[in-house]
Amino acid sequence: MGEFELIRHYFAAASCAQAGEGVALGIGDDCALLEVPPGEQLAVSTDSLVEAVHFPTGADPYLLAQRALGVSLSDLAAMGATPIGFTLALTLPRAEPAWLEAFARGLDQMARQCAARLIGGDTTRGPLSLTVTVFGRVSAGQALTRGGAQVGDLLCVGGCLGDGAGALPLVLGRRQASTQIAEPLLARYWSPQPQLALGQALCGKATAALDISDGLLADCGHIAAASGVALLVEQARLPLSSALRALLGEDAARQCALAGGDDYLLAFTLPAQHLHGLQAAGWPVQVVGRVAAGEGVQLLDEQGRSLTPPARGYQHFGSSGV
Ligand code: ADP
Ligand code: MG
Repeated sequence: MGEFELIRHYFAAASCAQAGEGVALGIGDDCALLEVPPGEQLAVSTDSLVEAVHFPTGADPYLLAQRALGVSLSDLAAMGATPIGFTLALTLPRAEPAWLEAFARGLDQMARQCAARLIGGDTTRGPLSLTVTVFGRVSAGQALTRGGAQVGDLLCVGGCLGDGAGALPLVLGRRQASTQIAEPLLARYWSPQPQLALGQALCGKATAALDISDGLLADCGHIAAASGVALLVEQARLPLSSALRALLGEDAARQCALAGGDDYLLAFTLPAQHLHGLQAAGWPVQVVGRVAAGEGVQLLDEQGRSLTPPARGYQHFGSSGV
């Protein structure tokens, strides 16, 4: 199968690649054309996943596609943006129909769930890697950035932390667990659910936000630095799932929440007056700390004493990464 036939059969024909709102021209020309309504801005983000670096060799193609797109759409969620579309740059060692069919199905499932359209891409031969670029729209000046946290705000997260990191030994086949424990954790790793609706609900309320990809402490460090404040994380308030606790025990589960990675949940700073309204409306908003004057991130015990944080989250090309 040639390159054009492959693109046409697996990608241009997918239901997520059909024309729709915000996409004036999709796959098939030299560029796609997007429409951004007046008064809105285009939000753009790119993420690459490389085999054996970001996912294990031989990963299930359906799950891999879901993860690649879910992780990228999570960046739009973190800005409070609404997805329009995405491009896919795919490098493949060979064109294997069964692999491509499953990959396209996984992609289509996540794309339709998040109302994001496949608008173009590139297909080349080489070691397996995927680059997804997402495009979203957000009211001008309303995007949630990392830079607006105010002293006195609450520090909140959008759900239980650490499941993605806790799932990693299961993903790599280094550990076994009962279905009851493994299933929810593996789902959190392979199909991260971008918190798009929560991000949109936080526009005009949260003062700063990001999606947690490298562990709560490392990512809070980004908000602290961009906002010129200190973030205080209260260890006793970390929300941990029962599956993660059952797999690892309380202490190791907490380490995953603080310094693991792969959560793809939102972390945000929120003036206290908005907390009750958001929670009453059913949004998953959990308070894990607060914003104070100063700099950096501090981990506190129940008495408010400073704890030594666990090793930092994963960093490519950093002292602890590859
Ligand atoms: P060009 O040579 O002009 O860059 P290509 O031949 O690479 O165009 O691609 C032809 C069309 O198919 C373009 O619209 C491109 O965006 C789209 N396309 C290529 N690869 C993919 C892919 N993996 N997924 C979706 N669309 C793709
Ligand atoms: Mg061209």
